[in-house]
Amino acid sequence: MPVPADNEDRATISCSRCQACCCQLKVLVMVDDDVPQWLLTHDAHGMEVMRRHDDGWCAALDRDSLRCTIHARRPQVCRDFAMGGGDCRDERERWRRVAASL
Ligand code: SF4
Ligand code: SF4
Repeated sequence: MPVPADNEDRATISCSRCQACCCQLKVLVMVDDDVPQWLLTHDAHGMEVMRRHDDGWCAALDRDSLRCTIHARRPQVCRDFAMGGGDCRDERERWRRVAASL
């Protein structure tokens, strides 16, 4: 059965009311980032990335509050991920479809 589209207006989308969908994505870490060392690892291509748990969630995410525990030191990639932007909406849509299929 088709999943109804996410009709939430861009202006009303808020991280505080989101399941932190984007915090399951691979996050590349740049040389100028200041992420705590224990949260870093390398991907299959040798790129420095945020460490993730086996279920895909970023290791810096507080699983109870769904807040970033290193907000002030989060990578630039995370800073650039615009709340309500195209990538945000795509991730929310993907998340919604996965949840609807469970
Ligand atoms: S940026 Fe978008 S997908 Fe990420 S937590 Fe905020 S609202 Fe959710
Ligand atoms: S560093 Fe923070 S904002 Fe970036 S993916 Fe991890 S938990 Fe989310």
